[in-house]
Amino acid sequence: MRSFQVCRCGEPMQFAETATPKPKGSEVLVKILAAGVCHSDLHIWEGFYDLGHGKKLMLQERGVKLPLTMGHENVGEVVAIGPRAKSGKLGVKIGDKRLVFPWIGCGACAVCKRGDEQLCMAPRFLGVYRDGGYATHILVPHPRYLVPYPKVMKPEEAAPLACSGVTAYGALKKLGALVKTEPVVIFGAGGLGLICIAIVKAMKGKGVIAVDIDPVKREAAKKQGAIATVDPNAPDALAQIQKAAKGPIWAAIDFVGNGQTAQLGVDSLVKGGKLIVVGLFGGDITLSLPFVPIRAMTVQGSYTGSLAELNELIALVRKQPLPLVPTKTTTLDGAQRVISDIKAGKVVGRTVLKPAG
Ligand SMILES: [Zn+2]
Ligand SMILES: [Zn+2]
Repeated sequence: MRSFQVCRCGEPMQFAETATPKPKGSEVLVKILAAGVCHSDLHIWEGFYDLGHGKKLMLQERGVKLPLTMGHENVGEVVAIGPRAKSGKLGVKIGDKRLVFPWIGCGACAVCKRGDEQLCMAPRFLGVYRDGGYATHILVPHPRYLVPYPKVMKPEEAAPLACSGVTAYGALKKLGALVKTEPVVIFGAGGLGLICIAIVKAMKGKGVIAVDIDPVKREAAKKQGAIATVDPNAPDALAQIQKAAKGPIWAAIDFVGNGQTAQLGVDSLVKGGKLIVVGLFGGDITLSLPFVPIRAMTVQGSYTGSLAELNELIALVRKQPLPLVPTKTTTLDGAQRVISDIKAGKVVGRTVLKPAG
């Protein structure tokens, strides 16, 4: 098999040629048909998250080991099945095309047992702690992580559901019934923001007001069906958001996660409102503590989504196909250029690698 790997953080990825693994136990070997390049791959490649105040969260001190094959938004075809994965209703057959759930935990702790593997303290996330899909093949620990997706979708259309899709859906679920009754303000109209607009539509929600500094991304959000778009650098940005909402802001999701967006998010909320922080851009905000109770404010983090949420999202997509997020495809070694483009803020929608060329 061929892999395109991070060997040193921040340096160009390199090809590695290794023996194609044979699945053991419950493992399944999948040939990659599509691997999405996610914004968080930029941070993994750089090796850190920016914590603000000049501090960094170093990923190698958190268990990320190099060389690493990134890629956690994968669709592939089952090519070999371990001896313990062959039977039962979770079984998969050779030739099955599946979406790979990457947010895999230890499987044994209380968090994993209640179904929140994405929050496990001993994570085995594919493309982060284990080798991912910037490769011709990927080894998946158990067939339950191989999720069927609607046949009408191309592999490159389905792949982003494994991260940006389930992440947007996981954040929307935390807003609960507000999605149906109130417009949701989103910060950031990149891959996550655009798929969020599509999912809100499929959920028959009230709609999305998209806030982004980039006019190209605001335009993409409008095309995707946002009810309004706002430039956060405008001096009257807050007033514009409130005007677009035709009332107070109850629900916001920050897909960027920097000081400016999170501050604007907190400032825009009405008493009792909710801000869900998803983005990992980095930085910090100041929160006056008396306002937390006085404004009965919820600021909640959301980290990807669970396997159950991915299955729910797929069921939703089957009933109500999503308007597609603009998707480009490229070859495996195109990943390095895509990472640079993401860093420069030049990627609209998603870019997906097609390892077979
Ligand atoms: Zn991701
Ligand atoms: Zn666990």
